[in-house]
Amino acid sequence: MESVNPHTGARSRSWDTHSEEEVDGKLAAADGAWKAWRATSFAERGKLMHAAAAVLRRRSDELAALMADEMGKVLRDGKAEVEKCAGCCDYYADHAQEFLANRSIDTDAADSHVAFDPLGVILAVMPWNFPLWQVFRFAAPSLMAGNVGVLKHASNVSGCAVVIEEIFSEAGFPKGVFTTLLVESKGIERIIRHPLIKAVTLTGSTPAGRSVAGIAGSELKKSVLELGGSDPYLVLEDADMDVAVDTCVKSRLINGGQSCIAAKRFIVVDALYEEFTRRYADAFRKIRYGDPRDANVDIGPMARADLRDGIHEQVQASVREGARLLVGGELPQGPGAYYPPTVLADVKPGMTAFDDEIFGPVAALIRAKDEDDAIELANRSPFGLGAAIFTRDKERAERLARRIESGSVFINALVKSDVRLPFGGVKHSGYGRELSWFGIHEFVNIKTVYHA
Ligand code: NAP
Repeated sequence: MESVNPHTGARSRSWDTHSEEEVDGKLAAADGAWKAWRATSFAERGKLMHAAAAVLRRRSDELAALMADEMGKVLRDGKAEVEKCAGCCDYYADHAQEFLANRSIDTDAADSHVAFDPLGVILAVMPWNFPLWQVFRFAAPSLMAGNVGVLKHASNVSGCAVVIEEIFSEAGFPKGVFTTLLVESKGIERIIRHPLIKAVTLTGSTPAGRSVAGIAGSELKKSVLELGGSDPYLVLEDADMDVAVDTCVKSRLINGGQSCIAAKRFIVVDALYEEFTRRYADAFRKIRYGDPRDANVDIGPMARADLRDGIHEQVQASVREGARLLVGGELPQGPGAYYPPTVLADVKPGMTAFDDEIFGPVAALIRAKDEDDAIELANRSPFGLGAAIFTRDKERAERLARRIESGSVFINALVKSDVRLPFGGVKHSGYGRELSWFGIHEFVNIKTVYHA
């Protein structure tokens, strides 16, 4: 497994992949660890989870630098990501016991209640875009629920994968409670089918989700899928334009545009379309991109050169299909996997920028006739992750929010994950939920206990 610095294009580190025998040994050790871990109290687990948060905070600068070097995240964003992971550890350390307490239900029994038992070894297949956050938002609730975790991380962030196991170990978690496997994606099928793996969660692209869910389904193992998105942001005629433009620009550029919940399609009603387009393009022209270690840049490079090339092909295809290129769209000279902030206007259904997810700093501006047309366009996507509506009318927003096919709708704000709120999608964006009370119940046996 190789790490290539996307700023320079130079290979920085490499790791040997684990052999099948090594993987089997690690799974057996994880299962052994689970037998003891499941018997620990919430207080014991919580103490260790708080310790993991402390390790994260102590190593924040180093972790942010590692992410910058492996996938191009700017240092400021990297530090914010580390803090978010620490907050997630603290949150589940403090709330898991209350979330998983027995629930009494009145029936004709003397006592009937629901208990939440851990399942065992859970496999997590994770992407490179938030190399720490995606893993911690799985690991903190799962471990607090009494499961143990094994991680197959994206191949280009193996340094992060290795360091995450180290963080849990440094916090004092027993060996085997969290294990990193260095395997390529072709090795995943064998791991999912392994009898010691009880369930799998995948955050990544829709094709990867389809494959993992298919294999898990054939083994009758539960899966949670957090997949791609093409979040629509609806700008209605009663929107506050300053808020709308500012939020839409920020959201498209989260993590250099490489976020599942970055806004991707901006659906603007006719009355505001020209003004919105002009202001949006002006804002994009001012975005500075460059070395992720430079405090003066807004966004870094794309995570890998092949992904950058794929984005460029999508932009070119969209222009051929009739989209109007207003900003960017040219491959920059020089080393590094850079792609310029790009604005495409007059995007319509049937064009690549409308139908597919573009995982980079490329905004698709779409004209809608009115509110109904905007909703129709928003839902005309295979994805259903997040969405936002800009309007000054709260009741209108509430009514429209219910008509959008997505896992979340934010009003006058950008879509973001919050440990206290459930996160996930519908349609090709996946199923199941992470975070909050809901997330911790995905990988437990919801057990009815009945006393006559
Ligand atoms: P990806 O190529 O699907 O990779 C994600 C993970 O799956 C990696 O560990 C990868 O391993 C593995 N993988 C790839 N193909 C696989 C297959 N056929 N079978 C099993 N595993 C496979 O996605 P990515 O490029 O890293 O991430 C970008 C995608 O993730 C975008 O679509 C984005 O929207 C989505 N995403 C969704 C969320 C969410 O919460 N909904 C969050 C973040 C990202 P290798 O690296 O070894 O190939």
